[in-house]
Amino acid sequence: MAVPLEKNARMKDRKVTVIGAARSGVAAARLLGELGAKVFLSDRDPDAKKNEEVAELQKHGVEFEFGVHSNRTLETDLMLVSPGVPQNSEPVVTAIGKGIPVISEVELACWYTELPIVAVTGTNGKTTTATVLANMVREGGYVPFLAGNVGIPFTETVYKILGKEPKNGIHVLEISSFQMEHIHLFRPKIAVLLNLSPDHLNRYPSMGNYVSAKMRIMENMTADDHVVYNHDDPSLRQQIDTSAPLTPFSLEIHPQLLFHVNETKVYDESREVLVHLKDLLVPGKHNLANFLAAATAGKLLDVPTGAITKVLRTFRGVPHRLEHVRTLEGVDYYNDSKATNVQSVRTGIDSFTRPIILIMGGRDKGADFKELLPQLTSHVKQVLVLGEAADRIKETLSHVVPCNKVPTVDTAVSLAHENAEQEDVVLLSPGCASFDMFSDFEERGEVFKTAVNRLGSRK
Ligand code: ADP
Repeated sequence: MAVPLEKNARMKDRKVTVIGAARSGVAAARLLGELGAKVFLSDRDPDAKKNEEVAELQKHGVEFEFGVHSNRTLETDLMLVSPGVPQNSEPVVTAIGKGIPVISEVELACWYTELPIVAVTGTNGKTTTATVLANMVREGGYVPFLAGNVGIPFTETVYKILGKEPKNGIHVLEISSFQMEHIHLFRPKIAVLLNLSPDHLNRYPSMGNYVSAKMRIMENMTADDHVVYNHDDPSLRQQIDTSAPLTPFSLEIHPQLLFHVNETKVYDESREVLVHLKDLLVPGKHNLANFLAAATAGKLLDVPTGAITKVLRTFRGVPHRLEHVRTLEGVDYYNDSKATNVQSVRTGIDSFTRPIILIMGGRDKGADFKELLPQLTSHVKQVLVLGEAADRIKETLSHVVPCNKVPTVDTAVSLAHENAEQEDVVLLSPGCASFDMFSDFEERGEVFKTAVNRLGSRK
């Protein structure tokens, strides 16, 4: 019998298939097991069984199959799809066709928590903004639970606090388009919408599909909720469709802002100074926008201004996002391994006025690298390309800037070191996914940092 799509749905002895055994799928299976469901976890990748957490689940009665999605996936009362699994995956399409209820991992999690949800989405800046906001919430006397795309699945948090949720707890979630694909009740108290630019075009048939998936975050929001949005992004503004009241944030002048920015400071409606720009510890206008987004959401949650200020003054950034690695012989090395789309590479380049040697490449996500041409002609002196996308990047960019193909990140770092002059910036900002050469963007960033830290001085 199909599981009803409702809050606190009874799971005892219900059959639930989980498609995808990466971290979110495993966390969902654990929560479902705890709720008494009979869980069947299916992953097409034969290597998924090597995951230690999967072995742990087996001890708790979860059943598995690897290397195949068999028909058994359809003998179920509910199907849960992990965010890494595409919408057109065969068992998902078949289940929907047969009328089997299909949900996403965040949908399951929200059924079993009473705490308010603040959900941050957008193409870029989600982790940074969600992390800053969680810090503000903590500083303001609440208990934040930071989860979602940041690496801690929402179901993992909900599992950990099941039956013992603190009254002043708040979920701060980083939400990707993938997680919105199979929602039904998911409803944030506050949605923070950062920006929209092309991404994941290898998974979605068009930009329109990607945007629609992301914008589903507002689907169940009502007049009691709040949408915080970036007024400086016209394509985002166009997509907002909600009955929730809107609160903008902006680097420009706009009447409804809770926080304003001028050349030197951020201040509030009563003209009280929140922070002087010179006191911020992370570079780039994009980070200022992320800060304003977090501060606006914080204010709507009644976080005191003093707490917001304290976080803005002390936040040192999240690793792998324009992370300063080292200064060697007047050259600054930055790790922006999380820059996995073209817009974030543009943002990275725009954060500096000094000449840049740029390291790009990795798994191609169908991006249009031509969009980098204006940035490249301004102050990028060389691009070192690697990975599966190397040839395509080189073809697109080499008529405006010297492009050299390199086999590894280590070689890229050595060559950049040889070519760099005093005052240059060496920037790893790949504009691509990492999975062709690394297990994730973190590993790619660590390899870069190790190579940079090994560099000796040039004689
Ligand atoms: P996400 O979680 O959305 O991927 P992150 O905070 O991890 O965002 O940052 C990812 C990359 O995007 C970083 O490399 C950073 O330079 C860039 N970035 C961060 N914030 C913004 C923004 N507001 N606009 C454009 N690019 C940004």
